[in-house]
Amino acid sequence: MSRPPFVNEPLTDFTKPENKKAFEKALTIMKKRMGEELPLVIGGEKIMTGKKHQSVNPANTKEVIANVSKASKTEAEKAIQAAAKAFETWRFVEPAKRAEYLFKAADIMRKRKHEFSACMVLEAGKNWVEADADTAEAIDFMEFYGREMIRYSSEPKTKLYQIPTEHGRLEYIPLGVCVVIPPWNFPNAIMCGMSTAAIVTGNTVVLKPASDTPMIAYMLVEVFEKLKLPAGVFNFCPGSGSEIGDYLVEHPQTRLISFTGSKDVGLGIVEKAAKLAKGQIWIKRVIAEMGGKDAIIVDKDADLEHAATGIVKSAFGFQGQKCSACSRAIIHKDVYDKIVKLIKEKTEKITVGNTQDVDNYMGPVCSIQAFKTISKYIETGKTEGKVITGGEVQKNQDGFFIPPTVIADVDAKAVIAQEEIFGPVLSVIKADSFDHALEIANDTQYGLTGSIYSSNMKNIEKGEKIFHVGNLYINRHSTGALVGVHPFGGFNLSGTDSKAGGEDYLLLFLQAKSISRLKGHKPF
Ligand code: NAP
Ligand code: MG
Repeated sequence: MSRPPFVNEPLTDFTKPENKKAFEKALTIMKKRMGEELPLVIGGEKIMTGKKHQSVNPANTKEVIANVSKASKTEAEKAIQAAAKAFETWRFVEPAKRAEYLFKAADIMRKRKHEFSACMVLEAGKNWVEADADTAEAIDFMEFYGREMIRYSSEPKTKLYQIPTEHGRLEYIPLGVCVVIPPWNFPNAIMCGMSTAAIVTGNTVVLKPASDTPMIAYMLVEVFEKLKLPAGVFNFCPGSGSEIGDYLVEHPQTRLISFTGSKDVGLGIVEKAAKLAKGQIWIKRVIAEMGGKDAIIVDKDADLEHAATGIVKSAFGFQGQKCSACSRAIIHKDVYDKIVKLIKEKTEKITVGNTQDVDNYMGPVCSIQAFKTISKYIETGKTEGKVITGGEVQKNQDGFFIPPTVIADVDAKAVIAQEEIFGPVLSVIKADSFDHALEIANDTQYGLTGSIYSSNMKNIEKGEKIFHVGNLYINRHSTGALVGVHPFGGFNLSGTDSKAGGEDYLLLFLQAKSISRLKGHKPF
């Protein structure tokens, strides 16, 4: 069946009463599921283990979202074996048939989309709009990668140069067992995108979900269960990263690792995967998308109102817990005071609280560890610049709430201007000129996203050449990459520039096999 071209999933307008009501209903449904016992799912078998991990609502830690069984090395081994066994048949399933599973999964998720989003409100503290966008992105990934797989499996035939004596064909085949390790911050979109890209390309998956967000990952497992995806193709193997992560990464039967998360964990995986394990007969492939220290540059002739809005949106959307979040505003000295004032005004309008209430824009940060780390950075920031708003973190709350914090007059080399904080903390840095701003922007080990606000076309073009980031935006905010529109992935220590949601992405999960038949045989 031919499919209409890919289009992005529309977002929900919550100003419409019917949409608001539908979302409230979904919240009620998901609240009823609170405290559910989640099993591992290995080779189609549900396994409850003695060791449990609690996923809690970061806005109210008394609310337990799920009690999830934790895999030990025994279950991790079982998961690899189940995936290896399933690979032997799954890899020969027609690409179009594999794609069909994604299209059907997208249909199911679309029908239940508010439940998926409501789960993220409760489990990750996303606000309604952010959660809705996360689910829309997950649907986009499935619709996009499904179409891409069909394209990959049909196009290469026409791409080869043919010689008179042979018939040639290039076929993309899968690699094997893929260990998928996603972060908690786009708990549906990234988890779903990484998993389904591996599945649709004919690989089999061992998913180790992030410990903070196992429930939403389990909801995807339920979707594929409903679709009767063959057993062992998608194995759900929660457990602590440090306990079973290494085991899965180092396993000789692991063929590739698809990781998104912090730089330190990512680099550790790259190192471990490079070591040949006993019995291993391939070089493991690692896709690693990591952190950022993203900057927004404001030139002297920029539309300051627009720039300040973009900075505040990029810095504080989902509590600043996006790899694309703006954590450095680099401002031309001529407009510095004006824009600092605008940023302060706009930040002070942000509402903070439990995001079950649609009127709260900013919710909690994801965990007690995040709360402590971010609070510590704020204390460091107080010695490195001037807090112009926020900065006072209240302890002993039920949830992990941190106010949006802006620290001005920060030196480009300061700790808070160099290290990824991953929370609602913005450093404002003064630049002497546009060129100086570019120099500061590039003075980091990362290279993920960035924006330039300017009305000077010469400067914009210079910035487009010099600003070394995987995703650059001109006169708009630095977050909110759309599948198919802004293929996503970073430079330097931000990762392997995998460009998720782009036409090159599926290649990372495939290897090309060239087949030539001597003329006289049936042509392809
Ligand atoms: P993280 O702490 O690195 O964790 C990511 C995943 O790795 C989790 O599933 C974690 O499991 C697992 N893990 C931890 N130790 C491991 C080990 N030794 N071996 C194998 N897996 C291990 O990152 P996070 O806090 O979830 O996410 C935030 C980070 O992700 C930020 O740095 C952010 O910039 C980055 N990020 C990047 C992108 C991008 O596209 N570039 C997108 C989103 C987020 P546990 O949860 O069990 O510890
Ligand atoms: Mg949680």
